[in-house]
Amino acid sequence: MDTIKIDDNPLELAEKIVEDIKFSKEKGLLKCVQCGMCTSMCPGARNSEYNPRAMIEKVLEGDESVISDKTIWNCFYCYTCHSICPVGNSACEVNQILRQIAISKGIANEEVSPFAGFVDLMMDIGLGGIPDNFHQDLIRDIGKEWEEKNMNLNKIREELGLKPLEMPKNSIKEIRVLLKKTGLDKRVNKLRE
Ligand code: SF4
Ligand code: SF4
Repeated sequence: MDTIKIDDNPLELAEKIVEDIKFSKEKGLLKCVQCGMCTSMCPGARNSEYNPRAMIEKVLEGDESVISDKTIWNCFYCYTCHSICPVGNSACEVNQILRQIAISKGIANEEVSPFAGFVDLMMDIGLGGIPDNFHQDLIRDIGKEWEEKNMNLNKIREELGLKPLEMPKNSIKEIRVLLKKTGLDKRVNKLRE
């Protein structure tokens, strides 16, 4: 027989999410009627074990195991759930806040650290780009021609009469200062510990 745990304040987690700066205040997390529309339209749910309706249910029950649930990392923020919910809830925003809680607790390093290379590139060249650790996946998915284009980008630009893609040194410095001021560099280093 299942044991039902009666929490003192089952809405503590939900209230924390509603109060988060990233949550649209008008969205109706507490009005979720568990209709399942979000899950039925969610491409993440169609292709994995992820279930936005069940995620919201756990939040409303105060079940904090949802924070360490690996399936929440299968949402890719298409916002379909956000636009379709009949009570104006946003499973997508709830997901983003749960992930931030997981990162703050240090239990999401496995999921997030592969993306640290994006921050390295911003620090080094002041531009977004595809980090080296994704190259093999892209060669596999797109084909060898992707690698050839990527490796010879400046040569291709030259043939097209374009200058090399470079950020002015002063701008790179400014970007570095801004990223450091936000504490992003420290956060990324922590992910690698
Ligand atoms: S979040 Fe919205 S769409 Fe999803 S189950 Fe709740 S009410 Fe339905
Ligand atoms: S934003 Fe995430 S949860 Fe919402 S429909 Fe898209 S993949 Fe699913």
